[in-house]
Amino acid sequence: MLKHSQYNIVLTNKDGVLIYNSITGAFAKLTLEEYRKYLSLNLNEDENNSLLENLKKGMFVVPADFNELEYIKERYTTLKHSATTLGLVIAPTLKCNLACIYCYQNRGEFDNSLLMPSNVQEALVSFMRNIIRDNTKLLSVLWYGGEPLMGLQVIRELTKKFLKIANELDIRYTASMITNGTLITPTIAEELHKLEIKAFQITLDGDKDTHNRKRIYKNGKGTFNRIIDAIKTLAKYRDTNITIRVNVDEEVAKNIDNILDTLDKEGLKNKIGIYFSKLEEYEYSSRAWACYIKSLEEYSKVEKKLYMRLIERGFKLNIYPFPRYIPCGAVREYGNICIDPEGYIYKCWHEIGVKEKSVGHVNEGFNERLNRWISYTPFSFEQCSTCKLLPVCMGGCPLRAMEGNRECMPLAQNIQEYLKLVYAYKSQQHTINKLKSIKEE
Ligand code: SF4
Ligand code: SF4
Repeated sequence: MLKHSQYNIVLTNKDGVLIYNSITGAFAKLTLEEYRKYLSLNLNEDENNSLLENLKKGMFVVPADFNELEYIKERYTTLKHSATTLGLVIAPTLKCNLACIYCYQNRGEFDNSLLMPSNVQEALVSFMRNIIRDNTKLLSVLWYGGEPLMGLQVIRELTKKFLKIANELDIRYTASMITNGTLITPTIAEELHKLEIKAFQITLDGDKDTHNRKRIYKNGKGTFNRIIDAIKTLAKYRDTNITIRVNVDEEVAKNIDNILDTLDKEGLKNKIGIYFSKLEEYEYSSRAWACYIKSLEEYSKVEKKLYMRLIERGFKLNIYPFPRYIPCGAVREYGNICIDPEGYIYKCWHEIGVKEKSVGHVNEGFNERLNRWISYTPFSFEQCSTCKLLPVCMGGCPLRAMEGNRECMPLAQNIQEYLKLVYAYKSQQHTINKLKSIKEE
């Protein structure tokens, strides 16, 4: 006996019926006849029926006694304790060369000028070595700050040590960086590439005028041109991934075409991924950004229009709702191990530098505050336990949820519309590839 998955989302468009399943992330297009069969569950298991096989593969239909929620819970628990990937987030310094109006990285008690000293670096390496397990296959480091490039010397030293250990233990090593981009020159980019840093996230806060009012040097000068130059420099490396994060407020939403014009004109259209981000207020954030879009519903509408614009303008779209079974690395025992320049350990990078939130220190290991994160579960929220997007969202940001401020992911507001966007993009890509192959013939 079969039943329909409770994680199916069905939508119709001019091409027929589309079904998305959030447990597998599968997305199928059915003819009306196939859809009728799906609805009636009249899918004879004994026949060699490819429709049935495909529906089962995508988990659009599942055995009647299969408990999907239990399955999601098991996947969550396994991922939480899996040591296959060890994820470190390291702030070599909390110093920054900019003075963005919304920056939360002003920790009253923290010495922002500090670069991680060599004794902390050594303790960090031993701590990391101790938590590598026999089944660890990947060591993944995210360089964070402040502005991590203000601590380049620390990055050099630590990378050398990490690579040595990864090599000795036959573990793969990858590194990425969240940077404001202003310190990236051709020489620095080459060095970062040698240091295996091959994924970057850089923020734009709007078009040139808007950005230059918000993301500024300490002397008040804007950073837009410098950042665009840096993106162009990094884009020369074909194995480097660049994600532009665009912080969205009402002004940015209005002038999105100006940003896209610049990226297009500079030849970056096919070399970058863009994602839009809702500005969040956390306990330790500055509240100085005036035109936040506070309502999630409103933001979701705006975001959908922005992604639509990306498609219309031929930019890459990267919003596929893949199931993750984990809200973020912070709830993983071996994930999001965030270390500040003094060696304090945190689980969420938003708390880096706030010592009372630390879950340990590289000299002493973890403390009891770690449990708050590891025992976190989205299944206690009734709304999440019955949500069709649970495998994708998993209750949203755990920090927000623990602060009593849980928020759904923007696409949950409007999932049908988002799926239509994804479908339109996939169809467009299919046509482009088809045209390319015709041209090449
Ligand atoms: S807890 Fe929230 S803010 Fe922190 S890393 Fe996870 S998703 Fe991001
Ligand atoms: S936070 Fe919202 S979208 Fe996410 S799983 Fe819970 S109910 Fe669903």
